[in-house]
Amino acid sequence: MPDNEALYLIDSYLKECDATVESVKDGKFVVLDATIFYPRSGGQPNDIGKMIRGGNEEFNVVFVGKFDGRISHEVDKEGLKPGDRIKCAIDWERRYTLMRYHTAAHVIASIVNRSTGALITGNQLELDKTRFDFSLENFDRAQFNHLVEEANDTLQKGIEIKTYSLPRDEAMKIPGVVKLAGALPPNIEVLRIVEIPGVDIQADGGTHVKNLKEVGQIEIVELVNKGKANRRVYFKLK
Ligand SMILES: [Zn+2]
Repeated sequence: MPDNEALYLIDSYLKECDATVESVKDGKFVVLDATIFYPRSGGQPNDIGKMIRGGNEEFNVVFVGKFDGRISHEVDKEGLKPGDRIKCAIDWERRYTLMRYHTAAHVIASIVNRSTGALITGNQLELDKTRFDFSLENFDRAQFNHLVEEANDTLQKGIEIKTYSLPRDEAMKIPGVVKLAGALPPNIEVLRIVEIPGVDIQADGGTHVKNLKEVGQIEIVELVNKGKANRRVYFKLK
């Protein structure tokens, strides 16, 4: 797997880790041998936080992205050098909120898909709300409210979320494992699967909560009709 430095894939609850600086580009773009910082991808915003050298010298991590298969951390000042031992600390409140939204998005999208056949065409997590788009010609507001109720009932069930790896061939046999058309890079041999038993299963590189009970309840903020069959939903968690 190319993501061997990505500790958040193994344990999304890590708030701190020790790491060694592998390389620094243009003074501010830092690659580590191991990281808990999630890079912006798949509709989930990047983490922010700090790198701490020598116990007290802080570098703020302002952006994290993935470039050429490596996770690059942009820091707010120069000075880090290859070989430096540092401690990483993510802004946990922000990350945990995004984890709750990410798991919530899987639950509501799966219920909408299963009940209406609608295809999910996009999603974007934010800290105060989440957006998802789906394609459905005959849209019934009352029916949709019912699906939200079903999602909220599901969220109260205390279901444990499982993450594991499967060879690509095997994973692709699972119906609906790839939810977003075109979202799966062709060169990946092993897929990370996020399964909410009885609710949703999909190939996913994001961070999720361990138990549905951590999510809370979904409240629809806005429902927009964007053309004939395109629906956009904003929801928040309470
Ligand atoms: Zn996801």
